Amino acid sequence: MKPAPFAYKKARSLEEAIALLGEHKDARLLAGGQSLIATLNMRLSQPSMLIDINGISGLGGTAHKNGKVEIGALVRHVQAERSELIAKHAPLIARAMPHIGHPAIRNRGTLGGSIAFADPAAELPACLLALEGEVEAVGPSGKRTIRAQDFFQGLFETALGSQDVLTAIRFPAATKDTRVGFAELARRHGDYAIVGLAACARADGKRLSDVRLAFFGVGATPVRARRAEAALAGGDVDAAVAALDLVPQDDVQATAKVKTHLAGVLLRRVAKQLTEERA
Ligand SMILES: Cc1cc2nc3c(=O)[nH]c(=O)nc-3n(C[C@H](O)[C@H](O)[C@H](O)COP(=O)(O)OP(=O)(O)OC[C@H]3O[C@@H](n4cnc5c(N)ncnc54)[C@H](O)[C@@H]3O)c2cc1C
Repeated sequence: MKPAPFAYKKARSLEEAIALLGEHKDARLLAGGQSLIATLNMRLSQPSMLIDINGISGLGGTAHKNGKVEIGALVRHVQAERSELIAKHAPLIARAMPHIGHPAIRNRGTLGGSIAFADPAAELPACLLALEGEVEAVGPSGKRTIRAQDFFQGLFETALGSQDVLTAIRFPAATKDTRVGFAELARRHGDYAIVGLAACARADGKRLSDVRLAFFGVGATPVRARRAEAALAGGDVDAAVAALDLVPQDDVQATAKVKTHLAGVLLRRVAKQLTEERA
């Protein structure tokens, strides 16, 4: 299938993109196009205009400052995957990157696009939730910051308003005692996950505290498994698996029963990663 006809405009500034979103109510922002163009081609979406944000400067940087890592919306997956700054200060993101699609997709897809699209089986939204990170957005009333836990609101639904542009994501940088874990099960490497888990914790030897487990592929949004987090901080992996209170639905990939079982398998793998010494 081919997309329905649409107009195309390349925005040169955030102000221009926001103004165009105001003038064309059903317009869509175009970042890497790796999700948007597929939905257009399948006619799941028929916007009258695409507003290309790739020419807006200031959205493509990565920085480590004031104990936080900030990644601009237009940073491409491949840039994050190869970034020394991310490998050192954002090891959870570094671990997740190779699981996102295939090299061709990672060459064009952006971190901002992935967070804004909010696919429930995507890796990065779960990482941002596990990191207790935040999203920066700019709209007609200026800049605002939205915590990850408030950002993902439903199936492909976020706290972004219709005229908002996501400009960056931000989260605490890893410290010496930070431990991270990441695992997912997919039919083939690079496919969206059937179930996945992004995790981080603070470690004192083998003892863990501040455990954060964000599952994906088990609901409309990534979800924290709070009871399992508490059990894992108590050092009991079996109790953590038993405490998993996820409520997945059957989907095209697997039944809810299979997903619940797989979530337990992933939790055991990730618990092992969390207790390993940091390289
Ligand atoms: C075959 C295939 C396999 C894939 N596998 C995976 C996978 O395993 N894991 C995974 O996470 N992803 C996967 N993807 C999706 C990929 O990661 C996309 O790059 C990502 O989801 C969207 O990023 P994008 O820059 O391409 O956004 P686009 O496709 O350009 O945009 C996606 C949506 O986000 C909006 N948007 C984009 N940027 C902004 C912004 N800055 N502010 C506000 N709204 C914005 C757009 O308007 C649009 O609605 C796959 C894609 C394909 C085609």
